[in-house]
Amino acid sequence: MGVARFALCKMASSLLPRMHRPSALRQMSVAADLKNSTIFRSQGLIGGQWVAAHDGKTLQVNNPSTGEIIADVPFMGRRETNDAISSAYEALNSWSKLTAAERSKCLRKWYDLIMSHKEELGQLITLEQGKPLKEALGEVSYGASFIEFFAEEAKRVYGDIIPATLADRRLFVLKQPVGVVGAITPWNFPLAMITRKVGPALACGCTAVVKPSELTPLTALAAAELALQAGIPPGVLNVVMGNASDIGDALLASPQVRKITFTGSTAVGKKLMAGAAGTVKRISLELGGNAPCIVFDDADLDVAVKGVLAAKFRNSGQTCVCANRVIVHEGIYEKFAEAFSKAVQNLQVGDGFTEGVVQGPLINEAAVQKVESFLQDALSKGAKVILGGKRHSLGMTFYEPTIVTDVKTDMLLAREEVFGPVAPLLRFKTEEEAIRIANDTNAGLAAYIFTSNVQRTWRVSEALEYGLVGVNEGIISTEVAPFGGVKQSGLGREGSKYGIDEYLELKYVCLGDMNRK
Ligand code: NAP
Repeated sequence: MGVARFALCKMASSLLPRMHRPSALRQMSVAADLKNSTIFRSQGLIGGQWVAAHDGKTLQVNNPSTGEIIADVPFMGRRETNDAISSAYEALNSWSKLTAAERSKCLRKWYDLIMSHKEELGQLITLEQGKPLKEALGEVSYGASFIEFFAEEAKRVYGDIIPATLADRRLFVLKQPVGVVGAITPWNFPLAMITRKVGPALACGCTAVVKPSELTPLTALAAAELALQAGIPPGVLNVVMGNASDIGDALLASPQVRKITFTGSTAVGKKLMAGAAGTVKRISLELGGNAPCIVFDDADLDVAVKGVLAAKFRNSGQTCVCANRVIVHEGIYEKFAEAFSKAVQNLQVGDGFTEGVVQGPLINEAAVQKVESFLQDALSKGAKVILGGKRHSLGMTFYEPTIVTDVKTDMLLAREEVFGPVAPLLRFKTEEEAIRIANDTNAGLAAYIFTSNVQRTWRVSEALEYGLVGVNEGIISTEVAPFGGVKQSGLGREGSKYGIDEYLELKYVCLGDMNRK
């Protein structure tokens, strides 16, 4: 599947106009510099060794902005995954027996190294994922923050003493690491989706086998190299990539893997959840969203425009918490649409390394085709494009920031995640209707409201069936707050003091016969 996806991507990119040469040349020199840096790795990591696939197969990592090949990485499968599981299992005993302070020191060093290589990691993210460098650097800080936070939390995994029901007994609750963790992550945050899982897992004594997306493995490998440099022992963190379903199946089948943590599409998440039943594994899922952004008529218009802009167009619309439906009160609909258009038309599209660019390419041709099909569906049902609405003249997978009005709840744009730079504007009359529209989805990750009415803030926040609610704010993710969805957006929470619980088992110990002489 992986090889086919690349072939399709390469074929499609060759059919499209190329990026202008100066930009492409600049990127090639960034890539060349990165390849000489101490963090660049293009092999899998198993038991502390950098290894190729057993049969020598590789897959290409492309730059979505130019189509250039950045590197070849191993195309691994079951065999390498089983090797990685064995080394994680072997490392578990010694890693989990370290004191929390010892693990914490390793993680803190890893955090320091990530931050001291922020520029290179940011460049790597821009190269393989396409997001503008400034945003990529933001992801490095955000990603690193999970390592720092959980380095500190490692020392706060407290158990409990429960008042006993019989005088001669003492009841304790211990918290212990789950064991080997299989972590499967997507391409839209090549670093942060890994650190948000690996940070708490390693902090409490688990070991991990990470499978990054085949589209963005280089950032994951660079982060793993820094983990080794930080003194995290061989086998504690392993990275394999290649045949996603074979790797996933090997992780699911192994009784040594006690937990699967996944961020990605709802469809794959459901498969993993079903597969985890075979060995009754713990599972955490961070899946797709369909975020509503409700703009009430009492909102501060400037705040709403700024907030919706950030919530919609970050990473060119390719985040699970991106505003997917902008639901605007009918009384301010036209005024909002006009102000929003003015803001959106200023978004500069282009190569992520170009100064001033805030919208990079979409990840691949399939992503652009998805946007096109959703837009076509909306237009055929009466929606109107008031800005953008087509591929960008830069070619490749660049798409114009787009606003669509008169969107109705039965259109694909409102029903599913568009995962691109398209903002659909829906109308509502009453607060109840806005809440009904917002909740009319199987997803339940992030929601946003814009209002200056305090009572409404509480009422609507409580009524929204979502795991996260932003009020007058479009960017709400932080390492100190719990991140996760309800309904079919997932299970469990990442980040914050709650995030570490996903990697801990509770053990009840009953100490009997205290009065025996
Ligand atoms: P995806 O296709 O589900 O891929 C996610 C990961 O799963 C990738 O590593 C992928 O590998 C792997 N994978 C694919 N098929 C698999 C299988 N059968 N068994 C095991 N692993 C498999 O999702 P995506 O397109 O990369 O990411 C976009 C989705 O992620 C969106 O729906 C977005 O909302 C969601 N997301 C959610 C959150 C959150 O926190 N809730 C955060 C970010 C993204 P390959 O890439 O190598 O094929």
